[in-house]
Amino acid sequence: MRHRHRPRVYPEVHPYPLQHRAAKPQEERRAQRGRTGDDRGLVPGAALSQRAHAHHDAMKYFTIKELTRSATAQHLGIDNTPPASAVKALHALVDNVLDPLRQAWGGPIMVNSGYRCPELNKLVGGTPYSQHQRGEAADITVGSQSRNRRLLALIKRLDLPVDQCIDEKGCRWIHVSHRTGNNRRLYMKF
Ligand SMILES: [Zn+2]
Repeated sequence: MRHRHRPRVYPEVHPYPLQHRAAKPQEERRAQRGRTGDDRGLVPGAALSQRAHAHHDAMKYFTIKELTRSATAQHLGIDNTPPASAVKALHALVDNVLDPLRQAWGGPIMVNSGYRCPELNKLVGGTPYSQHQRGEAADITVGSQSRNRRLLALIKRLDLPVDQCIDEKGCRWIHVSHRTGNNRRLYMKF
């Protein structure tokens, strides 16, 4: 009787060779964790939204860096590092608005301005209660006014949870914001 207790291998269970499991994509590891553990007993949709809420590493197309960098701040030596609350808000803005929009648009979306510390906000002429100061807003463009108009139409068509969506100066750029709680879907022109 040989090899009675030899460990058996079930290759079909592992999509990757065992020695390469560490290299498995993060999203798949997360999904697998969900399947075997914390999702049990929950309907799939609820589990998914809970997970998206709990993990702050969901951002797919945008980085905190590009949502906080500012040529003006750099030029004037202003520290535009966002506080934790603003970082959290930026994540929510990306996960709920910017990433779904980027996915549907199918091409790069540039961020002209995201988070602004109060000092920077004042310097660039932002309104005193600007949502940029809380990390809830971004000014975005896809390169031209005509393309930005198409982007704006897409935002409406997707019915994204925007608090304010502003066509700035004939769509030279688009201001989008998202906040915790009620997002009013206010479409405006300035
Ligand atoms: Zn703005």
